[in-house]
Amino acid sequence: MLNIRIERTASPKEKPKKGEKLSFGHIFTDHMFVMNYTEGKGWHDPRIVPFEKISLSPAAMVFHYGQEMFEGLKAYRDDKGNAYLFRPDMNAKRANDSNDRLCIPRIPEEDFVQAVKEVVNVDRDWIPTDPGTSLYIRPFIIATDEFLGVAPSKTYLFIIILSPSGAYYESGLAPVGIWIEDEYVRAVKGGIGFAKTGGNYAASLIAQVKAHDGGFSQVLWLDGVHRKYIEEVGAMNIFFKIKGKILTPMLNGSILPGVTRNSVLQLARHWGMDVEERRISVDELLDAAHDGTLEEVFGTGTAAVVSPVGKLRFKDEIINIGNGGIGEVTQKLYDTITGIQWGKLDDPFGWRVTL
Ligand SMILES: *Cc1c(COP(=O)(O)O)cnc(C)c1O
Repeated sequence: MLNIRIERTASPKEKPKKGEKLSFGHIFTDHMFVMNYTEGKGWHDPRIVPFEKISLSPAAMVFHYGQEMFEGLKAYRDDKGNAYLFRPDMNAKRANDSNDRLCIPRIPEEDFVQAVKEVVNVDRDWIPTDPGTSLYIRPFIIATDEFLGVAPSKTYLFIIILSPSGAYYESGLAPVGIWIEDEYVRAVKGGIGFAKTGGNYAASLIAQVKAHDGGFSQVLWLDGVHRKYIEEVGAMNIFFKIKGKILTPMLNGSILPGVTRNSVLQLARHWGMDVEERRISVDELLDAAHDGTLEEVFGTGTAAVVSPVGKLRFKDEIINIGNGGIGEVTQKLYDTITGIQWGKLDDPFGWRVTL
């Protein structure tokens, strides 16, 4: 249990108004959570303070070798003013998996969840209430030693910032186009692909720019060794429905284990659907598209929840999926997960955490 000191701002900012258009990740709430780590002392001095700039040495290790990790989750509010988190224990656990891989000290999972809950509660009035809106929560840890040697840092900062964000799809769920990348790769087994860390994103930008230039909104990565097996989308895991069966690549060390992915798998199994986590080659996907058995494609992630894919590009070929609309299972998963998140549906798995 953390003993969190709270220092409230003397000059609260103006909150976005009801009905005001919110984009993603540009505005931040009045407060943030901060906790220090020092070797020998452990994590200490947990505090909630006014959102402000932080001061670091230009030699701080994070700037040079990228020793950092992050998480992403959301707080939701219903019509009655109740506020919820969705499976924050999964983020706390994954944070430590990332920490272990990156030689960052672990944070007790109950402390992680407590810190998220307390800072969100302090800025609870910042959780937007318009349909589809939420408060995006970004916990992250950075290495702060003033040292240019390559080694794990001996000091860190754990910070949680909060950003009210709009509905991912302003005009309702809409299919996106995806670029299957055949030149660059994101991660390989043994690397850091399963960790949520900035380095993976730095490595991905060039392909994202390429995909955007080609008129596609996201990149679908192939495995780094054979360049043959499907991995995941930029910030989403990927699912296919082929001949009625739900398929997704198995977790293999180079794929990020999404909380939404896990939730989709549990729901689909609960509904009695045929579900497989296994290796899926791009050829299998193309074959299914050619013989008309590729029924649905969707991405999963906290930001969009479930994102229908309307077309895929691989080399010179563009594949249209279904009739370009939203698949039945895609829609049902989206409705069910968002219904649980916003407190509108029963929560048979105990995923919703009331704040
Ligand atoms: C965060 C992330 C996801 C999605 O994970 P969720 O927990 O469902 O939000 C998928 N892929 C990558 C690379 C990610 O960083």
